[in-house]
Amino acid sequence: MRILVVEDEHKIASSIKRGLEQEGYAVDVAYDGEQGYDLASSESYDAIVLDLMLPKIDGLTICSKLREEEKHTPILILTAKGFLSDRVNGLNTGADDYLVKPFAFEELLARLRALLRRPKNGGLARLVYKDLELDSVNFEVKMSGKKINLSRKEFALLEYLMRNSGKIVSKDNIIDHVWSYDADILPNTVEVYIGYLRKKISGLIQTVRGFGYKLD
Ligand code: CA
Repeated sequence: MRILVVEDEHKIASSIKRGLEQEGYAVDVAYDGEQGYDLASSESYDAIVLDLMLPKIDGLTICSKLREEEKHTPILILTAKGFLSDRVNGLNTGADDYLVKPFAFEELLARLRALLRRPKNGGLARLVYKDLELDSVNFEVKMSGKKINLSRKEFALLEYLMRNSGKIVSKDNIIDHVWSYDADILPNTVEVYIGYLRKKISGLIQTVRGFGYKLD
């Protein structure tokens, strides 16, 4: 799952990024509205955390521009305390939820997970593929009922493969959804992580030569 955070306060932006990366998400940060809008409209994200008061382009404008362009990425708005009209405007321009600053990271995480689980995002809390079960809320994976221990990255990779089971996903697709933009990932790294996963869940991940991988 890849998240875009648009926030001009560097301290808040980096603490959100750090927290989400620890939870296994890939996170890109934009520090002004223009960069945020450019990334949101050109890259593919699973959700956007959007501050409202931003240099260059404000959050509400970004939100309505994206919706006009038929971009339906879930948006969680961050708004300063007391700006009730901002919240109402935010939801009217097509944001999915809002959070009032200051907020606890746990609350941000809970709301983001709720957005990512919405059916229109293909998001189910519990994914099942053959005898493999993945619970994205409790970060648990079981194979034939037996718990398997995965690192956060292995978990994120498996979740991405399971959400796309039966489809071929390329290494680039995987890099885009599992790693952050600044992570400097090489296609080799994907192979290494696929290798780790194969050791833990044998027989399910197929290599499609020249294209990528498929859970089948
Ligand atoms: Ca701000």
